Amino acid sequence: MYLYNSASRKKEVFTPREEGRVTIYTCGPTVYHFAHIGNLRTYTMEDVLEKYLRYLGYDVDRVMNITDVGHLSSDGDTGEDKMLKGAKREHKTVMEIAQYYTDAFFADCNKLNIRIPDTVEPATNCVPEFITMVSELLEKGFAYEAGGNIYFDTSKLDKYYIFNDFEEEDLAVGVRDSVEEDGNKRNKADFVLWFTKSKFEDQELKWPSPWGIGYPGWHIECSCIARKHLGEYLDIHCGGIDNAFPHHTNEIAQSESTFGHEWCRYWFHVHHLNTNSGKMSKSKGEFLTVSLLEEKGYDPLVYRFFCLQSHYRKNLVFSWDNLDNARTAYNKLIARVAQLKAGGDVDSNVFAEAKKRFTDALDNDMNTSLAVTALYDVFKLTAGDATKLALIEDFDKVLSLDLIAKAAKLNEKDEQSDEGAGVDPELLAYINSMIDARRAAKKEKNFAEADRIRDELLAKGITLLDTREGTKFSING
Ligand SMILES: [Zn+2]
Repeated sequence: MYLYNSASRKKEVFTPREEGRVTIYTCGPTVYHFAHIGNLRTYTMEDVLEKYLRYLGYDVDRVMNITDVGHLSSDGDTGEDKMLKGAKREHKTVMEIAQYYTDAFFADCNKLNIRIPDTVEPATNCVPEFITMVSELLEKGFAYEAGGNIYFDTSKLDKYYIFNDFEEEDLAVGVRDSVEEDGNKRNKADFVLWFTKSKFEDQELKWPSPWGIGYPGWHIECSCIARKHLGEYLDIHCGGIDNAFPHHTNEIAQSESTFGHEWCRYWFHVHHLNTNSGKMSKSKGEFLTVSLLEEKGYDPLVYRFFCLQSHYRKNLVFSWDNLDNARTAYNKLIARVAQLKAGGDVDSNVFAEAKKRFTDALDNDMNTSLAVTALYDVFKLTAGDATKLALIEDFDKVLSLDLIAKAAKLNEKDEQSDEGAGVDPELLAYINSMIDARRAAKKEKNFAEADRIRDELLAKGITLLDTREGTKFSING
């Protein structure tokens, strides 16, 4: 399998350190608010990577942290604490906020069929580990104390900038005007390992340490949590591309300075989800969450399907139109699966050939859109339905689109009402997605849109009828 490694900026053959076993570390959410669907694109693509490695037969050990302390409003270490901000906004304690949004994050993951890593560790569980690593860094001369805080000294490294060619001057420009520079830092790129003093209102959660009562910096938590569960070596580190700098750059600095050797072999970064007005964020434009998609009548798996249709290293543009297209395609796909009849023999030659097209796509740096094409190719095979169903079930171990289960449900629904009987499955899928969209528009009191949808169908000879059991349709002629 070839995987693009952001550290070498090349596709490389993937070889884990230990035969048959892969260790993965994933930066988890900062639990001060709901995850937006841009964050969830990253977790979805990481999920596909993990499931594909399992599909290939590897044992996967994956660890994820939950940031419930220390993440300030800038990814450098300036600004207010995000958790404290969330707690103030909702008049709750920091730990209440952490629990609430951790649960919400896992609920979103479940809806998107994202497997939750076996090991999930909140940062507040690991304070002794943070203190140990900061002490080691001080002992080895990679850290210093200034103004009550402990800083990492980036000038002690041969190479600090791993993922890009930043120079100190570029970094200075990158510092936001509104944020004062920290005069304690010896070098602009230095970052905080442990705070005892902040010029902002203080953390609610603090712990004693050899350097005074305080709390950890954000970056140290991932280095320590990865070490605690996976040791000194890591095969793959995942995250969103915006974490490459400074977060992952700082993780490498901390871990490799502590261990004295290379830490992580492959860096897997998922690119942004953009809207037409730029990168998606919590503070800008519509706050897009899985719950909002559901309110608007979308199955969350439509969003998963939308993500799979593009490569993880390309920015993906989200719009409601794009999502509508994905919904129509997804519904059509399920309708086609629903037409396949179970039973009969699987043709092992055809199966192996089709499977190879699927694995070839994913072996080439996780080309999920080609893998989806391989899935569509299954319908064109010269083989019985049993072979096709077996392939779909097999591919869905990685894609996780619930294709077989949704198709079975659709068949059940068709048996209950013979409304869809004899209708071309593609047409049926189109009508059903239009009915869903109209229901969502009505729910939002957007009656103009609801009428437009009804008229669009009418122009095609399809009449809608609202009944107590829901919207029915009839096809004229
Ligand atoms: Zn991290």
